[in-house]
Amino acid sequence: MVHHIVSFACAVVAATVPFTAAAQFEKDTIGTTAGNVEITFIGHGTLMLRWAGKTIHVDPWTKLAGYDDMPKADLILITHHHGDHLDTAAINVLRTGSTGVILTEKCAEQVKGGTVMKNGDVKKVLGLTVEAVPAYNLVHKRPDGMPFHPKGEGNGYVLTIGHTRIYIAGDTENTPEMEALKNIDVAFLPMNLPYTMTPEMVAEAAKAFKPKILYPYHYSLTDPSKLVELMKGTKGIEVRVRNMK
Ligand code: ZN
Ligand code: ZN
Repeated sequence: MVHHIVSFACAVVAATVPFTAAAQFEKDTIGTTAGNVEITFIGHGTLMLRWAGKTIHVDPWTKLAGYDDMPKADLILITHHHGDHLDTAAINVLRTGSTGVILTEKCAEQVKGGTVMKNGDVKKVLGLTVEAVPAYNLVHKRPDGMPFHPKGEGNGYVLTIGHTRIYIAGDTENTPEMEALKNIDVAFLPMNLPYTMTPEMVAEAAKAFKPKILYPYHYSLTDPSKLVELMKGTKGIEVRVRNMK
């Protein structure tokens, strides 16, 4: 269950990286027909989105940020129950009486009062649309044959803001459902091994569903320049590498 923590701890935490204040994280701004979305790259699988005065935290993790100094959440999205995605300490700091928490059935065992979304569910919250999409392994499995992420357990989320669709994939491989996604403007695809995708799998998926902007994220020790190389010459997809180890 804590498989990511093991690899992540070796990569980053062991180097005793100090907590970084919110202002020091990299940010990108994405224009939409409903106003700008500011994306803050917290690290690994963790993001913060700000739009229309609202703050959305995705898989907030106290190992990466001092959440006491961060904006409280209007919405928290949790992709699945693994320790690098579901951190109840972070949720407790960011949650107010009016925070919406969208999570999976397994996460709901640890977080009370949230809204469970299953693969395929669609909800409108805060004036945006949240679609839960499948996130699972087809190839990468534990020694006992169980996928690291069995189908149906985890969510990716497609957020539609104005006409812009932002896909945060969660821990997954390049599933048929991913490759069939339509009209994705911005995609976050995970690349740490052996739990998620190889750069080749990410490239295959991206070439299939053609996001306009592709961010490799959750990549730990996988070198993102391999993905950049694989995507060279692919028209219409801009690969952006940010610090998302
Ligand atoms: Zn996981
Ligand atoms: Zn993970």
